[in-house]
Amino acid sequence: MPGIYVHIPFCKHKCTYCDFTSFPNRLNFAEAYMACLYKEVAERGKELKKYKFDTVYIGGGTPSVIDAKYIFGLMKQIKNCFHLTAHSEITLEMNPGTVNAEKIAIYKKAGINRFSVGLQTANDEQLADIGRIHSTADFLTCAKLLKGENFSADVMLGLKGQTKKDVLKTIDLAAEAGASHISMYALTPEDGTPIYTDYLNGELPDADEVSELYDAGMGMLKELGYMRYEVSNFCKPGYGSRHNLNYWRRGEYIGLGVSASSFFFGKRFTNTFDLDEYMKCILSGYFPVIESETVEGEDAKFEFLMLGLRTVFGVSSVAYKKQFGSDWKEDFSAGYEKMQKYLDQQGDITKIKDEYLYVQNQILTEFMQ
Ligand code: SF4
Repeated sequence: MPGIYVHIPFCKHKCTYCDFTSFPNRLNFAEAYMACLYKEVAERGKELKKYKFDTVYIGGGTPSVIDAKYIFGLMKQIKNCFHLTAHSEITLEMNPGTVNAEKIAIYKKAGINRFSVGLQTANDEQLADIGRIHSTADFLTCAKLLKGENFSADVMLGLKGQTKKDVLKTIDLAAEAGASHISMYALTPEDGTPIYTDYLNGELPDADEVSELYDAGMGMLKELGYMRYEVSNFCKPGYGSRHNLNYWRRGEYIGLGVSASSFFFGKRFTNTFDLDEYMKCILSGYFPVIESETVEGEDAKFEFLMLGLRTVFGVSSVAYKKQFGSDWKEDFSAGYEKMQKYLDQQGDITKIKDEYLYVQNQILTEFMQ
């Protein structure tokens, strides 16, 4: 079933590694932006009124930095304009430095039933070094406020000076605090971000070191009862992110807000990254789409394969045949022959062997050729 992604592009401060669409100096535009977003929700809702939606993911930016009344209003508008199923998964991203009990009470009243908290590391020096606005203590306060709720914590690998001990301490802290889900992902130093200079100076852990941090973290997550269901995502039984699983199953989703991307009607399309242009378009009665591409033929087949192989659920030959009318092993015979030793076959399901999932990119490259 399709999902809804909503982008809130405001932050208190820009983190040194961040290349997401977020505007630290434009919080005063929150009210105008949200008014435009409500309008976009209404227009897209009209267009998609015959579809049922099963997940909502409010990400950013930092959705928790704006007044909680806007999130309440947003959810009210989504429920009015879209057909959400009774047990939809509704996630809100939060920065631990921006929450309090009152905000969380409003979020819950708005229907938010899953929270994604950006912890990143339990080492305060590393947090300060990457420009995060919160401390480990802030995370613990936030987790206390979320007691009994379904929440995920983000853990970042590859920070300057980060050791295995730092990673294990971070995971332990998140688990102890009650996280039902942990996303553990490697920092990607993007050109143009301040951390890129550290990368060029050789001050960040190299790929082999990050891989060792990942293995150490994964070992601990397994011990603590978290199951890996995608290369960077681990959950307690029954707590996988339905919203993300829909992406990996090549399911449809509609993206709302500046820079949000969508996959619907066989097309991938993206809204403008420019905040002013976004608001101007919406106020003039246009969808602010800047790129649109129909994904078909070989591209659609490769997407199906690439997304499925990222997860421990793998690729189903039956589902592939149903969608494309052919056998994926024949369509990708050269890559399949070459990569067979890295793949696990169970009935009609093919997946990357557990020990090679972390290096899936290299394996997938072979299928591209
Ligand atoms: S909080 Fe997230 S979106 Fe905001 S600057 Fe930091 S990394 Fe970027």
